[in-house]
Amino acid sequence: MANQELMDKIVSLCKRRGFVFPGSEIYGGMANSWDYGPLGVELKNNIKNLWWKRFVHQRDDVVGLDAALVMNPKVWQASGHLATFSDPLVECKNCHERYRADQIEISAPCQKCKKENTFTEAKQFNLMLKTFIGPAEDEANVAYFRPETAQAMFVDFKNVLDTTRRKLPFGIAQIGKAFRNEITPGNFIFRTREFEQMEIEYFIREGDWERAFEEWHEAMKDWMKNDLGLDMSHVHELEVEAADRAHYSKRTIDFEYEFPFGTKELYGLAYRTDFDLTNHQNASGQELQYRDPETNESFVPHVIEPTWGVDRSVLAVLSEHYVEEGEGDSKRVYLKLPAKLAPYKAAVFPLLKNKPELVAKAQEIYKALRQEYLVAWDDRGNVGKRYYSQDEIGTPFCITVDFETLEDNAVTVRDRDTGDQVRIAIDKLQSYIADSLK
Ligand code: ATP
Repeated sequence: MANQELMDKIVSLCKRRGFVFPGSEIYGGMANSWDYGPLGVELKNNIKNLWWKRFVHQRDDVVGLDAALVMNPKVWQASGHLATFSDPLVECKNCHERYRADQIEISAPCQKCKKENTFTEAKQFNLMLKTFIGPAEDEANVAYFRPETAQAMFVDFKNVLDTTRRKLPFGIAQIGKAFRNEITPGNFIFRTREFEQMEIEYFIREGDWERAFEEWHEAMKDWMKNDLGLDMSHVHELEVEAADRAHYSKRTIDFEYEFPFGTKELYGLAYRTDFDLTNHQNASGQELQYRDPETNESFVPHVIEPTWGVDRSVLAVLSEHYVEEGEGDSKRVYLKLPAKLAPYKAAVFPLLKNKPELVAKAQEIYKALRQEYLVAWDDRGNVGKRYYSQDEIGTPFCITVDFETLEDNAVTVRDRDTGDQVRIAIDKLQSYIADSLK
């Protein structure tokens, strides 16, 4: 399938089935803003919950944080974002279209009006989204929506350390929105002006950085393979050259994924030295140090930063697991999602909707399963159509209550990927679904 065609199909499925809608659509939309619909929010929450479970709850050395979106502007001064968080912007003098200078061929014609030699000199454009705090719109009240979640982990470092009494190495994790006034957003939810990140700042002794970097390198690969179910041959690692790294970073790896529109950054892993804590210590005048309980030595810890984009995770998952099979009437589309990511873990149907005894039994099963899992109810059309509909949204199992159920207390469970049907006792359904989630 041509890549643009695949991308169009994913976008269309997302809209049709309620994963992702164009933002503010009834007002003609708002460029590059997207809303997660009823199924999209489930998929996204499943990703975030799995991440939190794996990297916070299941580890002894990571604790969570949920900080304010708008922080004191001094944070961005100290972090260097005010001075350097910018992209080079050029404008076409003819049609006024704006581009990121590092993403286009400056000597080529303007992509919009096709005129040649019309670009202005590149100037640096700060990507932070500005606002005003309080009623007066003057310079003194300017504030910024955070362009990354990371800085809160540095700013709250001392509070976390004092309240949790952690020993090095330890990390602070956060999931939340970040905002960037991107010059050229696009490619569906790949690059937007507001997005979510899952980030960890992992504090270490300087001499430990190579070991910790390698540990996170492996942990990130393990997440992509085992939680997102990505085929690792679609993931590429880019060792970022010194010239392209942030000046304070001694090593950075970008994990790139083969999205339908090209191989692009999915996640990043960076060794940020003690740059951030040192800057905040100097700017705030507060001591941001760790005291070694054995040697009593005090020092500013170094940090390894693994970072994950939530929306790019959703897009990689959709791209990876979108499957079309067969031809003509036997053609089917399904999302081969790992069961733990699927919005619905199962769907329950009565074979016929005009048979009250089947409907009652199916409702009983549906309500019992719903105590544990998100399950779908469907009694429209015939069973074939219901299978088709559930396949398209990635529901791993379809459970049908038929006349035999009333005799044997068992149901037909049909597998999304193989189409195989097995007979399962009703009282074994919970554990059958639970097994698929391991
Ligand atoms: P890019 O080079 O694609 O602009 P970046 O290197 O600036 O990304 P980071 O600052 O490392 O990105 O941000 C960490 C993660 O946040 C990225 O790996 C990506 O998953 C996600 N991310 C960054 N910018 C956006 C955006 N505009 N829309 C959606 N996700 C984003």
